Amino acid sequence: MAPTHDVLVIGGGAAGLMTALTAGQRGLRVLVVEHANKVGKKILMSGGGRCNFTNAGTTPANFLSANPHFCKSALARYTPAHFIDMVERHRIAYHEKELGQLFCDVSSKLIVTMLVDECLAAGVRIETGCSVQQVEQADGVFRLDTSLGRFAAPSLVVATGGLSIPSMGATGFGYELARQFGHDVLPTRAGLVPLTLSGKHQERLADLSGVSFPVEARCGKVRFRNFMLLTHRGVSGPSILQISSYWQPGDDLRLDLLPDRDALDWLEAQQRQRPDAELKTVLSDALPRRFAQRLCEVWLPNRPMKQFNAPQLKEAAALLADWPLVASGTEGYRTAEVTLGGVDTDGVSSSTMMSRHVPGLFFVGEVLDVTGWLGGYNFQWAWASGHAAGMAV
Ligand SMILES: Cc1cc2nc3c(=O)[nH]c(=O)nc-3n(C[C@H](O)[C@H](O)[C@H](O)COP(=O)(O)OP(=O)(O)OC[C@H]3O[C@@H](n4cnc5c(N)ncnc54)[C@H](O)[C@@H]3O)c2cc1C
Repeated sequence: MAPTHDVLVIGGGAAGLMTALTAGQRGLRVLVVEHANKVGKKILMSGGGRCNFTNAGTTPANFLSANPHFCKSALARYTPAHFIDMVERHRIAYHEKELGQLFCDVSSKLIVTMLVDECLAAGVRIETGCSVQQVEQADGVFRLDTSLGRFAAPSLVVATGGLSIPSMGATGFGYELARQFGHDVLPTRAGLVPLTLSGKHQERLADLSGVSFPVEARCGKVRFRNFMLLTHRGVSGPSILQISSYWQPGDDLRLDLLPDRDALDWLEAQQRQRPDAELKTVLSDALPRRFAQRLCEVWLPNRPMKQFNAPQLKEAAALLADWPLVASGTEGYRTAEVTLGGVDTDGVSSSTMMSRHVPGLFFVGEVLDVTGWLGGYNFQWAWASGHAAGMAV
């Protein structure tokens, strides 16, 4: 079959649209095939509807991958400043929330509109509600059998994303395609996801659902300082979502409940200043009252500060600085923001995103084994890898 296009992109999400507009701007005939009824659904729901579209401080250290070097080249060539340029050209107002996280002032819709407008201006054809039945390659041409007919091109870009939020169109199709063409797929699991507790660990905290406070979450050598939120089923909030990408069932997870102070120094000072106050009253000054109370019902002895001797105070301080959180699992793909693992980067060129096994086949975005932290990093990877492929197809 003769080529109908120069480039076929499967998946009209962040990375697919970025690849398409970049290739289209180079004068190539590009078709984006999206099986959902509209493109960019995850962009629309991202950042609470305001899309945290990049992180101004993005570095390769903000990503997890079996090969931590893989993301470097693409991230260096398409930086947050490049994407911000496009956002500003489209007069989309934005602001920095915290830690370099850039959000739209008004709505994520503006980012999708911007990407689609750039695609259309570059002559890209976008087909939604189009499912791919089969992919074949012969004589250097990829042929796609879809619900809208057959398409063929010398370049095929797999931009189907990860497994999180199946209700938004997520499928394992990209992984199947990768395997079909001889690629390894590393085991996948949910990342940036709330953790669940079970048994007594859940019962002790379940009625505190909604309580939130800053902690430092630690797993191995990794630590994140931010808010934790207690939920009906477990724990969430930015510090927990971040650490969830590093945690696996059975791993030791610890929380510093007083991340901004030295627990022992502080307890000693409290003992001097208010010897008759009970521990739970003292702790209520640093933690939400109900959580402080629960700590003193289950984990710590509640008595007037003057009744703690030095070793007992030290023990209490050690628990507050290194509180064990016994998680049983995660909420899974249903609520996860990202998928860890995916197409093994060993089989893919880090500068072009092209397969090392099959010339003309590209993988971009989350389908690859590259996963960012919470805070705009995942979109920056989608833009950067999409741009790299769009320049190379
Ligand atoms: C609730 C939520 C909030 C998020 N917020 C942020 C945030 O604020 N900042 C940030 O950086 N990251 C955020 N993320 C992560 C970010 O959305 C993803 O990392 C990013 O969208 C990945 O881009 P992608 O193009 O690789 O995949 P996606 O954006 O998921 O796009 C893949 C596309 O492929 C389509 N597709 C799948 N299978 C097929 C098939 N067989 N045929 C045709 N089409 C197919 C899908 O329908 C989808 O449109 C969030 C994720 C979630 C779930």
